[in-house]
Amino acid sequence: MEDCIFCKIIDGKIPSAKVYEDDNVVSFLDIMPANKGHCLVVPKKHYETLLDIPDGDLANLIKATKKITKALSLSIGNGSFNIIMNNGKIAGQLVSHAHIHIIPRFKGDRLRLTWSHKKYIDQEMKSVQEKIKKFV
Ligand code: 5GP
Ligand code: ZN
Repeated sequence: MEDCIFCKIIDGKIPSAKVYEDDNVVSFLDIMPANKGHCLVVPKKHYETLLDIPDGDLANLIKATKKITKALSLSIGNGSFNIIMNNGKIAGQLVSHAHIHIIPRFKGDRLRLTWSHKKYIDQEMKSVQEKIKKFV
């Protein structure tokens, strides 16, 4: 993908602070971190969202995510972290090359990753449940 910033990072065309690389996955520091140590874990092949990633590559991606999270916890972190993946523009995906965020958490970091809670009314919960189950 010619215009993809992460493809350019993977190809070494633009610099990044890499923390991990293997045949399938690369991980580097986010340039605008939510906390220091915020890493992105990226499949080397260009896929847009989670749903585009074949199971084998997805397994590699999540295994690498665990490995890097462990390294973060042993180095600058303390065992508390958020794993986030934005999929699609409405969900806040700015870079359309699938990636997982690992954000180490620190006491008092004042990072807010909360959302307001909605409510189901009447039989709505059951109806939503049934709709989803038909496609699983
Ligand atoms: P998204 O919103 O797509 O889930 O997150 C994209 C992330 O990529 C953002 O947190 C942003 O700071 C990071 N990012 C965007 N461009 C670059 C870049 O050129 N280098 C690095 N290291 N991170 C980038
Ligand atoms: Zn790409």
